Amino acid sequence: MVATTERDGNTWYECEKCGLLFDSREDAAQHEENCDAEEPSYIQ
Ligand SMILES: [Zn+2]
Repeated sequence: MVATTERDGNTWYECEKCGLLFDSREDAAQHEENCDAEEPSYIQ
């Protein structure tokens, strides 16, 4: 699931698996489908 976050007045789309930020929701969703990160470090 792609998360949205606002920074400096812009909306960014964040991969919830690895935390990578995208300026396009489609790009983020496509990345997340192929993302290999299964255990983000911030969850621990
Ligand atoms: Zn990712």
